[in-house]
Amino acid sequence: MSSTLHVAPVVLSMVGAEPIRDGAVLVEDGRIVAVGSRSEVHSAGARERVWRGVLMPGLVNAHAHLQYTDFGDLALSGLAFPEWIRTLTARRADFSEVMWQESARRGVHHMLRSGTTAAADVVTDPCVLVPVGRSGLRGISYVEVIADDAMWAGGRRAAFLDTLDGASGGRALGVSPHTPFTVGTAVFEECVAIARERGLRLHPHLAETAHEAEFIRHGTGRFAELNRAVGMALELLDGGSGGGPAAYLAGFDGLGPDVHVAHGVHLAAEDRALLREQGTAVALCVRSNAILAAGEPPVADYLAEGAPLALGTDSLASSPSLDMWEEAAAVRELAIRQGYRADDLDRRLVEAVTVGGAAAMGGLDGAGALRPGGLADLAVFDVPTQGDPYAALLAHGTGSCVATVLGGRLVHRR
Ligand SMILES: [Zn+2]
Repeated sequence: MSSTLHVAPVVLSMVGAEPIRDGAVLVEDGRIVAVGSRSEVHSAGARERVWRGVLMPGLVNAHAHLQYTDFGDLALSGLAFPEWIRTLTARRADFSEVMWQESARRGVHHMLRSGTTAAADVVTDPCVLVPVGRSGLRGISYVEVIADDAMWAGGRRAAFLDTLDGASGGRALGVSPHTPFTVGTAVFEECVAIARERGLRLHPHLAETAHEAEFIRHGTGRFAELNRAVGMALELLDGGSGGGPAAYLAGFDGLGPDVHVAHGVHLAAEDRALLREQGTAVALCVRSNAILAAGEPPVADYLAEGAPLALGTDSLASSPSLDMWEEAAAVRELAIRQGYRADDLDRRLVEAVTVGGAAAMGGLDGAGALRPGGLADLAVFDVPTQGDPYAALLAHGTGSCVATVLGGRLVHRR
């Protein structure tokens, strides 16, 4: 039995709101045994690691596409969303399985290096499942579906089911019907049914752009043109649904506590209320939204309304980094600009990148919090510890990760 005592000036367990000063976390065989102040945690025989800064749960990235890590130049291209997605789709043809796997591995490395130990990873090419699974990264790989009825019947349904039944390197699987403008309504509904039959979670993109909201309501606009250009026959092309994006999903039971959506930029109050009532969390990706000129999500409203929130980076194809603190700082700035004034902002954003992200994926076996019995997924950030640690993480967290522990194993150290 190997035991390690991790000691730091501040420990944030994310179980209670109070930071533990001069704190300690005792880890044995990959699990947490005790969390408390150094004087309370008894650790006879444990090897001791003394850290600077804040010791806390490994962070949770609630929306990413690891396989697109090597598409970083696209984030600098200045393309708006419709042109961007067309370019990304065209670029895919140049990539082999080995290249996708390498790209995904590099993404995992970026995450571990910045203190992220769990991620909701959307998987377009199933060849990345095994390498990501083997890396030990926690979270769920959501197998993506893009199809109209003809594509679905013509092989994509069979391929999708094969992926769900195939090897995943130990990685938990979920289902990601890509978006309402790339998945037919009947196909989307069947994806939801398949996920529920198998007890898998769901994670679609929703309301990322105003074009999407228009397409859902009226069946018109840029995505109608794009669909006609590529010959996709979606039900929404026939006049739209008449309602908002969340109402559209609710129309076929596509919301619920087993679902979290990415983006949620263009959602009016009644759509946000629907998500909340159904227990559906939103993973905000505000830096990606800014790069793709998709708009700004109503962060202040989400916070004031008590929405279940998580944060994501999206992929490097539309984001400057996979560092969750950089994302959280951008969300903070937006919330303040939108008029959010309550003094709980920093703490709630730290919750969003820990317990909030884990909750968006069904809890992840206690990830996002430090509790006896839980998995020892920890991160240490070298930020000032004299004042409020939540504020310090938001202000100085970016690039500050000095150690990451995954299942008790030190996987990054600087
Ligand atoms: Zn995405």
